[in-house]
Amino acid sequence: MATDHPIPPAGQAKLGTLKMGLPLIGLTGGIGSGKTAVSDLLAQLGAGIVDTDLIAHQITASGGKAIPLIQDYFGTEFIDSSGALDRAKMRSLVFQNLEAKKALEAITHPLIRQETLRQAGQLADAGAPYLLLVVPLLIESGTWIDQIDYLVVVDCPEEIQIQRVMHRSNLTRTEVESILKAQASRQERLALANAVIDNQGELSELKSAAQELHRKILGIRKP
Ligand code: ATP
Repeated sequence: MATDHPIPPAGQAKLGTLKMGLPLIGLTGGIGSGKTAVSDLLAQLGAGIVDTDLIAHQITASGGKAIPLIQDYFGTEFIDSSGALDRAKMRSLVFQNLEAKKALEAITHPLIRQETLRQAGQLADAGAPYLLLVVPLLIESGTWIDQIDYLVVVDCPEEIQIQRVMHRSNLTRTEVESILKAQASRQERLALANAVIDNQGELSELKSAAQELHRKILGIRKP
């Protein structure tokens, strides 16, 4: 990492407004709780989805907007042979180095906000009945939360999160547990929820819960 470089200036881009005359639904939940599974089901029902995690991956994939900035600040050793961010290397750096974490966020957050607004505008123009904004750290970061009309939390016991993430991402129990520790607790999330999707059961149960949520959201009308 180029430690002699100052941290890049924090996002100059204004947060902007996601209020597009549509209900703005926030979807959050801990790692592996099932946010993607729920948003995929709601997308099939016609929801307009903006997934900030997906955007974060896109901007750090090969050719992504964040790559030249990351390369410039952290050095080429953080870019893999395909031209994408070396996630494992960056993850281990930012876990132990707060300055590096802030620098990475100062690069990525403004780009994520910009793309979030662009996609939200596109979905509103295309006639989506509501916008579902998927943000893993919605509660922790504070970004967007003031604009949200209705907060949906995907929830399941931590042990299920651990098992699913170990299986999906090939991480060790210790790695998943340390990610969990850095996130808000289940109780903190549940305390803010307008609706909770319980995802400890089968995918078929999740499908019914998503259908019910979709109907409920369609009943929410923007002022
Ligand atoms: P992350 O926070 O890591 O982005 P997430 O909250 O989006 O995760 P998913 O990716 O939807 O969670 O789910 C985590 C893993 O668990 C995936 O492999 C998914 O297929 C699986 N999964 C989700 N829900 C269920 C379920 N009800 N039954 C079985 N497997 C599930």
